[in-house]
Amino acid sequence: LSARVVVVGGGFGGATAAKYLKRNAPDLDVTLVEPNKVFYTCPFSNLVLAGMRTMDSISHNYNELRELGVRVVHTTAQDVDPVSRTVSLGDGSSIRYEKLLLSPGIDIRWNAIEGYDQAAAEQAPHAWKAGDQTRLLRRQIEAMDDGGVFVLTAPANPFRCPPGPYERASLVAHYLSQHKPRSKVLILDAKDNFSKQGLFMQGWKDVHGDRIEWVGLSGDGKVVRVDAGKREVETEFGTIHKASVLNVVPPQKAGFIADRAGVTNESGWVPVDPVTFESTQVKDIYVVGDATIAAPMPKSGFAANAQGKVAAAAIIAALEGQQPLEPSWANTCYSLINPEYGISVAAVYRIQEGLIHESSGGVSPTDANATFRKLEADYASGWYSAITQDTWG
Ligand code: FAD
Repeated sequence: LSARVVVVGGGFGGATAAKYLKRNAPDLDVTLVEPNKVFYTCPFSNLVLAGMRTMDSISHNYNELRELGVRVVHTTAQDVDPVSRTVSLGDGSSIRYEKLLLSPGIDIRWNAIEGYDQAAAEQAPHAWKAGDQTRLLRRQIEAMDDGGVFVLTAPANPFRCPPGPYERASLVAHYLSQHKPRSKVLILDAKDNFSKQGLFMQGWKDVHGDRIEWVGLSGDGKVVRVDAGKREVETEFGTIHKASVLNVVPPQKAGFIADRAGVTNESGWVPVDPVTFESTQVKDIYVVGDATIAAPMPKSGFAANAQGKVAAAAIIAALEGQQPLEPSWANTCYSLINPEYGISVAAVYRIQEGLIHESSGGVSPTDANATFRKLEADYASGWYSAITQDTWG
């Protein structure tokens, strides 16, 4: 089977797809376009913020993919022309494709919260893409005075990693309990319900006492304005909160290349055929990962990896003139309340009447003992090793 497949984005979805395309059809000409030589994962970046892991331990490179025969090009895809089936690259060149797979992840909706633009993110980091933003936020947490408040603002749905803000609050609280015990964490949330809410709330009570305070939408938790210089936020009803460290997790949308390719709809995300993850708007362009509308699957690295495999198989089937197989997917999201206390949500998804449905699933039991919570924390690191091995080799 010889054809040219271009993959844009070497994160969870794209690196997995490139690997499985090449592994399952070694004669395919597979090019992966990714600007970064080193990829830092968002998963476990909250552990870096808490000083439990190094940046090095969450870094991955593309050597194994190259060894497998994937051509890896370190540049940005700037534009897509679906008529001539060409991707233009940041270095001025362009490549043709027969099938294109995009896994560009998220872009921040700058100024969706008044005052929160790229310059503001240098003072009030989002750290919702891992790398320099993670380092910046870690430095700020380390430099924080004892007795200060770490303010985290969380967005409305949908957004990358539904439990992510709450795991971050938990692990920052853990760090503070050890190094700055008079300090607090305040979460200002633009919604009233969040992932694994019961388990998080119970874990916070058990482990962090009253160190973490959560204010939901109906309690005036929605932040509408940010003053990054003053480290202040203003809520919908005019309350001003002053932070020692301000971490804004802002509203998001699909990575910009999805817009350029014409695959996003008015929501800013990408509608896909759930069986193949081919765009419903542009033929021969497949999109996986956070950029897609794949609910009830969450925007998670686990889901992006699973979707990458499904799309790779669908592309090979299409090139061979065969029908795609009906897929099923799994997802587990672990979160840590502290290093000894893990919780999880898991589900299996299947196609039902042409749509993705959760066919089974659940969360950790509420009445589990300390041994059980510790085991789940261990499973979280096992999961991290396994998925990063599967994705980057
Ligand atoms: P990404 O992994 O972000 O990859 C996108 C890639 O595309 C990037 O490398 C980017 O450089 C590249 N790119 C973008 N645009 C272009 C372009 N135009 N040209 C070339 N390349 C481009 N998920 C879990 O499953 N478990 C967890 O425990 C977990 N924890 C998380 C904790 C935090 C704090 C956060 C923020 C997220 C967490 N996630 C977790 C979610 C996970 O990070 C994402 O769901 C996952 O990264 C999505 O994969 P993706 O391929 O869609 O995007």
